[in-house]
Amino acid sequence: MRLFLETLRETCRECGPKAALVLPGEGSERQVSFDSLRMGSLAAAQWLDGMGVTRGDRVAFCLPKSLAAIQIHLAACSMGAISLPLNPAYSKAELDYIVRDSGARVLIVARDNCPTEGSPGALDVPCGRLCPISVRDFEETMALQPAPERDPAPGPSDPALMLYTSGTTGHPKGACMSHASLTANMDMLRDAWQWTREDTLLHILPLFHVHGLLVALHGALHVGATTVMHAKFDAPAVTRALADGPATVFMGVPTVYRRILAEVGDRRIRLSGMRLLTCGSDRLPVELFEAIERQLGHRVVERYGMTETGIMLSNPVDGERVAGQVGVPLPGVRMRVRDPRTNAPTPVGEVGEFQTRGPHVFLGYWQDRAKTRAAFTEDGWFRTGDLGRCGPDGRFEIKGRQNDLIISGGFNVYPAEVEHVLARHPGVAQCAVAGLPDAEWGEAVTAFVVPADPCPAEHELIRHCRGSLAAYKAPKSVRFVDSLPRNAMGKVRKDALVAHGAERERFAARSLEGRLAEIPQLDRGIGRIEATDIRRPDIG
Ligand code: AMP
Repeated sequence: MRLFLETLRETCRECGPKAALVLPGEGSERQVSFDSLRMGSLAAAQWLDGMGVTRGDRVAFCLPKSLAAIQIHLAACSMGAISLPLNPAYSKAELDYIVRDSGARVLIVARDNCPTEGSPGALDVPCGRLCPISVRDFEETMALQPAPERDPAPGPSDPALMLYTSGTTGHPKGACMSHASLTANMDMLRDAWQWTREDTLLHILPLFHVHGLLVALHGALHVGATTVMHAKFDAPAVTRALADGPATVFMGVPTVYRRILAEVGDRRIRLSGMRLLTCGSDRLPVELFEAIERQLGHRVVERYGMTETGIMLSNPVDGERVAGQVGVPLPGVRMRVRDPRTNAPTPVGEVGEFQTRGPHVFLGYWQDRAKTRAAFTEDGWFRTGDLGRCGPDGRFEIKGRQNDLIISGGFNVYPAEVEHVLARHPGVAQCAVAGLPDAEWGEAVTAFVVPADPCPAEHELIRHCRGSLAAYKAPKSVRFVDSLPRNAMGKVRKDALVAHGAERERFAARSLEGRLAEIPQLDRGIGRIEATDIRRPDIG
């Protein structure tokens, strides 16, 4: 197998002056050629050398979405170190945890975003050095600095990349991908999505997540396609770029598409040069799939993947793209559906846990043998923790995370099924369904709804659900909220909903005096939930 880095080196040689990256800015746009990207990454590797970074060291960087972040990422991979991109929206406590857990040799941060040493917010790098950089100066210096060629140092099974998973419970875990698994992912996607050098990718996703970094950026670099990289997801700018720009490929999450459609309004726009719109990282409701087709004129290719595996399943580029289904295994990916409790095979068409095996699967969690062992079955299949089924036609449909499964009165309720029905009600703008602890039912199916105008009555929504679902699946209650708590990828944080809902239950059960005393804390709790909302500058 030819590693991703070797292919990239050859691509840079062949594409030379062609734009690898186009960085739109205020009134002007910067172009970075494949030559310049390669030189910048070599110089960044030399710079890391100078700081004592060697093979196997973790190179953590917490930078805005920028050329500097890409130079450092490619540099770390090429010298056999482990690239560790971090979300610039992390709090100090989150950064401290990851830097300590990973034993990072360096933590590179943007100078204007770095509390000075000795101040209460100063970052601590117990096993290495804190390196504040000025992003723009760094990019220019690296692009001009001559640096020697390097032979790709790492071997196929060496770790190349570590991404802390956006787990919703407990501490995040560092998922390590090898050079071989990165390469396998790139090769599979190139073939399945028919990437070519003629493509132009409109890139709006963050670089600290598998979707934006591997699927999108690596996908384009791997074949020598140009990436137009927006530093942030700005719905009006992206909608304009989709309609007028040179892009042939666009990748988004459902929240991104929702916001683009809101921008388009009742119009229908033509995406003249576009050949492929993909969507993943979260459930794509059928209504959204249909609205995209209606307003943007494209049937989105929905795909399914995760940090530990990259992409596993995708709807076909040539062939039927089915709304509500996540497709078929990519070439080289093995999938099976098993009973999550007994690990026995489930009959065709029945719901079980998706398990996968193949060269795309990660190495394990950083220094956590117990969690790594628990993530695999005894016969070596990775347990995704996602529930769904595979039909007789070999197509997969996802029902939701095992952890989100609600057991109410002994019956299994898949939140996605209820959300799907709720979303069809005109009074529902957004919704999420979770199980709240309940003395009678064990867990009570609870709907959290951002209402449209006019706001429907609770009993009306429950009746609507009962019209299409068995009674035990219909929500027992509906909470109307201003927004849903979402993580950096726009996914609803069910844990925050459950915690908030449970808090409200406790609150309602208190005496009047107790409730009055608790109001300030409760409001702070709601504020915290909203602080993670996607409308804040999380994406990008
Ligand atoms: P992450 O590791 O942050 O990429 O999250 C991976 C998880 O996102 C998967 O385990 C699924 O639960 C979810 N996911 C990814 N793609 C889809 C999809 N097309 N539909 C529903 N859920 C998805």
